[in-house]
Amino acid sequence: MKVVMAKDLLKANSDLAKRNREMFQKARVLVVNMISSPGAGKTTLLEKTIPLLKNELSLAVIEGDVYTTRDAQRIENQGVEVIQINTSGGCHLDANMIASATKDLPLDELDLLFIENVGNLVCPAGFDLGEDHKVAVLSIAEGDDKPAKYPAVFRDAEAVVLNKIDLLPYTDFNLEEVTKQIRDINGGNNMFKVSAKTGEGLEAWLAWLRLEANNKRALQRG
Ligand code: MG
Ligand code: ZN
Repeated sequence: MKVVMAKDLLKANSDLAKRNREMFQKARVLVVNMISSPGAGKTTLLEKTIPLLKNELSLAVIEGDVYTTRDAQRIENQGVEVIQINTSGGCHLDANMIASATKDLPLDELDLLFIENVGNLVCPAGFDLGEDHKVAVLSIAEGDDKPAKYPAVFRDAEAVVLNKIDLLPYTDFNLEEVTKQIRDINGGNNMFKVSAKTGEGLEAWLAWLRLEANNKRALQRG
């Protein structure tokens, strides 16, 4: 019997992630790995973000989904290139999947590549994909204890998007408490309070993406 230890799998993943990162560096494309539980609104956030950026930045999306192509179809409707990864039950994306998916993308022509990870707040945190930044999306509907309960995702996230703030008046979600949890875990520098549905708060999120994409583009020129 051959036994493969989890730590060996993770080592293999991080080797591949390193290779992805070098490839993204060479292409000077900013790669953002979006992580949340199911239903936090990653796809809706991307649907609203893409039309507001696609005239100034060249965008593409890798969509991780367990079985369906529903989210990929919604993104494709925004007129950008989408590569769908069906994990067939798998609960996270890994670096190998990203390496395969990017073979079909014109990386050199892209400024910003979004990866929508599988809806899951646990293991996507453990699998480096070679991205520049992880972004955690948390929705008001999920309750205000998630950062404290799933600290790994929030610790590694360069930015946290607090989505569905239009629901605040209808819940007992404690915004102050969550802000404090996030600040305790990761400093809370980049926290965006938005409603992807109404468009409220999106400007700061867009400004951050623009800045990061432009920094990446300028990186090796200077
Ligand atoms: Mg989705
Ligand atoms: Zn998993």
